[in-house]
Amino acid sequence: MLEIRPRRGCLWPMWPHGDRPNHEYCGDRRAVGSSYCDQHKAKSIRDLEIEPRQPFIPRKKAA
Ligand SMILES: [Zn+2]
Repeated sequence: MLEIRPRRGCLWPMWPHGDRPNHEYCGDRRAVGSSYCDQHKAKSIRDLEIEPRQPFIPRKKAA
C-alpha cells in the first residue's frame, strides 16, 4: 500500500502569536481535509470554541 505524502505538511505556525513570522511550520502529516495535522486540527477547533472569531471592533474613546 502506498503511503500518501502531501507535498507540504501541517501548516500550523510554530512561531509565537504576534511575533514576527519565521515561517516555520509544524510540517507533520496533514489530517484528511485539513491544512493541519491531527493534533493541530484538534487544537484549532478547540481554539475556535473557546474564542469564537469576531470582527475586531476598536473601542471608541469617550470624548
Ligand atoms: Zn501540526
